[in-house]
Amino acid sequence: MLEKPIRAAGAKVMIYDYCVIGGGIVGLATAMRLLEDRPGASLLLLEKEDKPGLHQTGHNSGVIHAGIYYPPGSLKAELCRKGAEATKAFCAENGIRFKVCGKLLVATSDLEVERMDALFERSKKNAIEIHRVSQGELKEREPNIRGRGALFVPSTGIVSYGEICKAMARRVSALGGEIRLSMRVTGIRETIDAVDIASAGESWRARRLVVCAGLQSDRLAILAGLSIEHRIVPFRGEYYRLPAEKNEIVRHLIYPIPDPTLPFLGVHLTRMIDGSVTVGPNAVIGFAREGYPRLSVKLADMADYALFPGFWKTVLAHRRSAMTELRNSLWKPGYLSECRKYCPSLTLDDLLPHEAGIRAQAVRRDGALIHDFLFAETDRMLHVCNAPSPAATSAIPIAVMIAGRITGK
Ligand SMILES: Cc1cc2nc3c(=O)[nH]c(=O)nc-3n(C[C@H](O)[C@H](O)[C@H](O)COP(=O)(O)OP(=O)(O)OC[C@H]3O[C@@H](n4cnc5c(N)ncnc54)[C@H](O)[C@@H]3O)c2cc1C
Repeated sequence: MLEKPIRAAGAKVMIYDYCVIGGGIVGLATAMRLLEDRPGASLLLLEKEDKPGLHQTGHNSGVIHAGIYYPPGSLKAELCRKGAEATKAFCAENGIRFKVCGKLLVATSDLEVERMDALFERSKKNAIEIHRVSQGELKEREPNIRGRGALFVPSTGIVSYGEICKAMARRVSALGGEIRLSMRVTGIRETIDAVDIASAGESWRARRLVVCAGLQSDRLAILAGLSIEHRIVPFRGEYYRLPAEKNEIVRHLIYPIPDPTLPFLGVHLTRMIDGSVTVGPNAVIGFAREGYPRLSVKLADMADYALFPGFWKTVLAHRRSAMTELRNSLWKPGYLSECRKYCPSLTLDDLLPHEAGIRAQAVRRDGALIHDFLFAETDRMLHVCNAPSPAATSAIPIAVMIAGRITGK
C-alpha cells in the first residue's frame, strides 16, 4: 500500500530542480530532454526496480510504428509520426541497431477489407506513406502469407527499446542527472513552492515533478492528491516465439487489420531485432499488474479494478472479444487459429513459450478505453496517465512536449 510522506520537522533536504518518477522509456526520455533544455539543472530520477526499463518498455514487440492507425489530430498520430523519425535518429547517433523492414497489414475477410480501406484513407490523412497490395502481389512478397489483399507501410521498423533505455540512462548521467534504482516512491505531497517525495527511509524535494509510472500511474496520481476519472487496467499481451528454423518465414512484419473500437492491434508476426520471430501479443485482462508468468494473481490489483465501475462497463461493452481473448489465452489451438488466418502453415509445435508483456491501459469511469495519450497537470506536477502503444516509439516527442510544459520552452 502506498503511504503519505512523513518528514521530520526541521529535517534538511536537498531541493532538486526536477524529479522524474519511473525509469521506463518515457521517464528516461523526459529526464534526458529536461537536462538538454536546462543544462546544469539538478535532476533526480527514481525507479523502483534494480534496472531501468523492466516493465512495459522491456516487454514489448520492439516495433517502431509509423503511425497509421491513430485519428488525425490526436496526440498519438502526431507524436508517433515524429517519434518514428526521432527514434531512428537517436539509434543512429548512439550506435543502436535498428532495421526498417516495413509492415504488411493483411485482410482476410470482407469486414477486414472494409476496415482496410478506412485505414488506407486514415494513413493518407496522417501523411504516412502507404501502398495497396493485391492478393497476387502479397503472395509474391510473402509466399507464406495468405489474404484478400494488404496494405504496405515501408517506414515501419524494429529495435530493442531496452537498448534505447540503456543509452538514454547513460545520457542522463552524462548530463549530470542522478538515477536512483530500487527506490519505490511511497509518498508525494505538493506544497506551494515544491513537491516532497518519499520512499521507505528517504525523502527528497523538487521544484517540479514528472510522474511516468506506467502500470502504477493511477496509484501515484491518487497518492499525489489528484482527482482522476480513470483507472489502469492491466491487459496482458501474451506471445509465442517461432523455432529458429522458421525465422525466415516472413520478410516483413505481418499484422492483421485491427478492430478500430479497440486500442490493440491483433496477434501479429514480428521479426525481432535479434533475428527471432514472435507471434502475438493477444490482449487479455490481467490478474496482476506486474506478474508476467501466466495465471499470476495479485488480489490488491484485482480489487482495484473490480471496485471501479468503468471496468465492468468496458467488460460488458467488449464481452465478445474479451471472451475470445480469454479462451485463446487458455487454449493454444484457439490462439493458433488467429495466426493461421494469414499464415496457414503454422502448427501448434511452432508456438514456443515467450515471456508476456502487460499493458497499462487507462479506462474511464463510463467504461471507455482511453485511446489517446493522457496527461494531468497541477502547478508543480505533471503525471503521464495513459501512455500505451505506440508510446515507446513516441517517447522522444512525448518528452519534448512534457519538458516544454515544465520549463516553459
Ligand atoms: C505487449 C506490449 C507490446 C507493445 N509493443 C509496442 C511496440 O511494438 N511499439 C511501441 O511503440 N510500443 C509498444 N508497446 C507500448 C510501450 O511498451 C509502452 O507504451 C511504453 O514502454 C511505456 O513506457 P513508460 O515509461 O510509460 O512505462 P514503463 O516502461 O512501464 O515504465 C514505468 C516505470 O515506472 C516505474 N515505477 C512505477 N511505480 C513506481 C514507483 N512507485 N516508484 C518508482 N518507480 C516506479 C516502473 O518500475 C517502471 O520501470 C507495447 C506494450 C506492451 C505491454
